[in-house]
Amino acid sequence: MASQPDCLFCRIVAGEVPATVVRETADTLAFRDINPQAPTHVLVVPREHYPNVGDLAAADPELTAKLLTEAAAVAADDGVDERGYRIVFNTGAGAGQSVFHTHAHVLGGRSLTWPPG
Ligand code: AMP
Repeated sequence: MASQPDCLFCRIVAGEVPATVVRETADTLAFRDINPQAPTHVLVVPREHYPNVGDLAAADPELTAKLLTEAAAVAADDGVDERGYRIVFNTGAGAGQSVFHTHAHVLGGRSLTWPPG
């Protein structure tokens, strides 16, 4: 889908809004969440605009796989892959999605089990 002028993550991809970028490819961008919920909290987005991961997966399975590969690479770069990390796609406002440009949250560096341990 075409870039959306009112989309925050399209604007980060375009370099119009600053972000702490940790990885980038021709198709994806990974940057640190502005309000981290864990020592590692990185968002991985496709450069192209899709409102949520279901839309992305239906439209472009290859790009979906690239997004997940980059999410795993972020975890490895931050050294949280051995202990374990979480990849989350909030999908829809009722699930807490607040930015409607597909993004994988990569969370790690603290216990993520429930109950906490
Ligand atoms: P979600 O609630 O799943 O849509 O996630 C959106 C995430 O974007 C939240 O975790 C926010 O903290 C994060 N966020 C919002 N604005 C920015 C920004 N300018 N740079 C980096 N992360 C942001």
